[in-house]
Amino acid sequence: MIPLQEAQDYVLGKVPKLPAEDLEITSACSHVIAKAVTSGELVPPFDNTAVDGYAVRAADTDGASGNNEVSLEVIGTVPAGSQPNFEIQGGQSAKIMTGAPLPRGADAVVMVEWTNSSDDGRTVHISRGVEQGAHIRRAGEDLQPGDQVISEGTLLTPAHIGLLAGIGVYQVSAVRRPVVGIFSTGDELVEGTQALAPGQIRDSNRFSLMALLERDGFETVNLGLIHDDKGAIESTIREGVDICDVLLTTGGVSMGDYDYVKVVLNEMGDMRWMQIAIKPAKPFAFGMVQDVPVFGLPGNPVSSMVSYLLLAKPSLYKMMGRKNVFPDHLSGIAADDFHRRADGKTHFVRAFLHQENHQTFLSPVWKQGSHQLSGMAEADTLAIIPDGEGSPKGSPVEFFRI
Ligand code: AMP
Ligand code: MG
Repeated sequence: MIPLQEAQDYVLGKVPKLPAEDLEITSACSHVIAKAVTSGELVPPFDNTAVDGYAVRAADTDGASGNNEVSLEVIGTVPAGSQPNFEIQGGQSAKIMTGAPLPRGADAVVMVEWTNSSDDGRTVHISRGVEQGAHIRRAGEDLQPGDQVISEGTLLTPAHIGLLAGIGVYQVSAVRRPVVGIFSTGDELVEGTQALAPGQIRDSNRFSLMALLERDGFETVNLGLIHDDKGAIESTIREGVDICDVLLTTGGVSMGDYDYVKVVLNEMGDMRWMQIAIKPAKPFAFGMVQDVPVFGLPGNPVSSMVSYLLLAKPSLYKMMGRKNVFPDHLSGIAADDFHRRADGKTHFVRAFLHQENHQTFLSPVWKQGSHQLSGMAEADTLAIIPDGEGSPKGSPVEFFRI
C-alpha cells in the first residue's frame, strides 16, 4: 500500500494543464482566466449620487436641524441617465436620483429622508447638515484606466463576470475545462428497468460519477456500459481518447480474474496500478493513453465516488488551471464515536454535519459499507479518521465536504 499523498502527487505530476480558449463571459464563470484583464475605463465613469435626494453645496446646509431647517431654491431635477446643464450656486439645489451625475457646483447630496419639498417643488427644506462629499460616488472610485481588474490564474466568480461586463469586456481568454469520458465495466451490470437475472446488478457508478462531474463543472461523454470483453473495452478506450481530454473507468481495477480493463490498459498505455492506504477506495489505476489521462476507479459504488473526490477531481481541477485543487479540510466535533481498528489506512467515514451553539458536530451515517450507496447519499461529509483506534465522541474530527 502507498500513502494517499503519494498517489495524489503522482497523478497531479502527470496531468497536463489544458490550453486557453476564447469564451463569451456568459459562459466563462467557474473557468480560470488565462490572461490578465486591465480596465480601459473609469468605474464609475462620472461623479454621481448614491442616494435619492438633493444636490447641494455642503456649506449651505451648515447647522441644519429639525428645529432649524435650511431652505434652498430647487433649480432642476436630475434623473439617472441625464446630463444636467445647470450649475448649483449658493442657496440653490437640484432634485437628484440615485446614479444620476452630480451637477456642477454641487459638492454633497442630502438624502430625501431629511428633506421636505414645498408644494410647488421650488423650495426644499433641509433638516440635517451634510459634509462635503456626502453620498457622492466619485468617478474611478471602483476602477481607474490601467488598473488590473483580474489577474491571470483567477477562478472566475459571478462578481468577476459582472465586473467584466461593467468595463465592456465581453470575451476573455480562459483555460479550457476538460471533457471527461466515462464508461463502466462488468459482466454483472445492466442498465434499464428489466428484471434482474440471477447474478446481475444495475450499473449505478456511471450515473453517480456523471453527476459528480457535471456538478463540478465538467462536460461528460457517456461511453456506456462495457462488458468484460477485451475487444469492446479496447475499442471504447480508442474512441474515448479520440474525443475526450480524460477518461474515467469504473470496475475491474482490483484483483479479480476477469478484470480485462487492466489487461487492455496495460497494452495500450503506461499504467500504474496502486493499492492506496485508504478505506474505502483502496484499488486505483492511473496512466496515460496517447497523452490522455485515464483514471481507473474502483467498482464498489461508494469507493468509485471517494476515489473520484480524492484523486480524479483534484486532477481535473489542475487541468482546468485551478490552483487550489484539494477540498478545504475543516474541523468539527464527533457527536458519536467514530470507531475503527488500526489497519494501516486512513478511513474516510461517511458522516453528516449539524450545528449546535455555533459549533459544528459530525455524526457517522449508519451504513458504512463501500457497496452501500444509501449511506453515501445520507452523508454530506467525509470524516478523515487517521489510522488507529478511532475518534471518541467529543473529540475533534477533520472532514471535508463531499
Ligand atoms: P470490480 O472492481 O469490477 O471487481 O467491482 C467491485 C464491486 O463493485 C463488485 O461488487 C461489482 O459488482 C461492483 N460494481 C462494479 N461496477 C459497478 C457499477 N458500475 N455499478 C455498481 N456496482 C458496480
Ligand atoms: Mg468487475
